[in-house]
Formats: sequence, structure tokens, C-alpha cells
Amino acid sequence: MGLNLLMLGPPGAGKGTQAERFARTRGIPKISTGDILREAVQTGTELGRQAKAIMDRGELVNDAVMIGIVRDRLDRDDAQGGFVLDGFPRTVAQAAALDEIMTGRDPLIVVDITVPEAELVRRLSARMICESCGANAPVGDGAAGTCARCGGRMVQRADDSEAVVLERLKVYHRQSEPLVEYYRVRPTFRSINGAQPPDRVAADLVAAIEAAGLVVTPVPKPLKNAPGAQP
Ligand SMILES: [Zn+2]
Repeated sequence: MGLNLLMLGPPGAGKGTQAERFARTRGIPKISTGDILREAVQTGTELGRQAKAIMDRGELVNDAVMIGIVRDRLDRDDAQGGFVLDGFPRTVAQAAALDEIMTGRDPLIVVDITVPEAELVRRLSARMICESCGANAPVGDGAAGTCARCGGRMVQRADDSEAVVLERLKVYHRQSEPLVEYYRVRPTFRSINGAQPPDRVAADLVAAIEAAGLVVTPVPKPLKNAPGAQP
């Protein structure tokens, strides 16, 4: 039984972090469009070359190429037992294409992480970015302004004034609302409250998936001192 999870949520909702954490604990791949696009370009697949040509012209990768790259990724062996999709689909057209890709597989569980706008503005306005590697983190995260990934210096992201943040959120909502409507009618759709500490959000995520009527099988861990275990 594959646990096929799709996560939705605005920038600042902690979606990427939760997706990564959930994928790791379940031993399934986290598939984000940024990562697979980079990988396709680096490995020079046919679709990767097309994507590179588009990006070299300074344009956005179109649906057909993006859908093809996602299809290739979901066809790989490691995604047959489930996956966590983050950042795709972004449009209803992409969602319809994903449904077609998912034909014959276990149903897609869709979890939307919601956070009040004022809280998103607070979080996004206060993000720090690493000068060296581009990693970003909320203000107050990590040791004295040092990047947890590479040790570089963390600085306040230049574009994150409140007006820029509000515009980003407006763009997100305009794009995602039809998508949420597309999925909301399904029995496997759940919405969770992202305005909580990360551990609470993670617990709600698991509860939401279980409530979606699917048994989530954790990666088996060796039990210490289990009843009947040999000493
Ligand atoms: Zn860094």
C-alpha cells in the first residue's frame, strides 16, 4: 500500500520542513519540484534539456515539461511505496495531469497547511538567509546568525519587506485557491492548523492522514526490551 501524500500550504507555513520530516520517518521520498528540476537538468535527460533551454531564456518551465519531469520521478522504483509531493501541482491543469499519472495507484492524500495571514507576514518578514549557500531560517533559529548547513553568515533577506511578503501571499492565494477547491471535495482531503509549534503540526499531519481512512505503516524499528526478545 503506497502512502501518496500531497502537501499544500502558503510560503511560511512550514510545508517543506513538515514534508521532509514526514518523508524521513516513513522512509519514502520527498519530491519537490525544485529538486527534481535541478536533477533533471544536471543529469541531462531529454526533459531536463528542454527545461534548461526554457530557463536559459529566462522563462518559466511550462506545464508540459514540468508534468513530464514529475511523471518520470513518480515512475521510479523508490516512489512505488509512496511519496511526499511538495510544490507540485501549482495549477488545476497540473492537478488534472497528476490525477492521470496516479491512475492505478493508491489514492492521493491531500493535506493543506493553513496559517492566518498576519502570522505568515510575521514569519516571512523575519526570515534570515545564508550569504554562502542560500539556506533560510526563521529569525532566532540557529546559533548566533550562523548557517546550520554550511557555517556561513545569516543575514535578513533583502526582499522581505511587508509589502513584498503581502504580494507573495496574494500571488499564492490567487494560484492556490482553485487548487484547494479542486481537492477539497475528496474524502482524502484534510486541512491542518500550521500556526502551532512544529511538533504539534507534525502530530496533526499524522492524525489527518489516519483520519483520511488510510493505515499509515511506519518504517519498522528494532524494539529494545520488547516482550519476548532474546537478551
Ligand atoms: Zn549556508
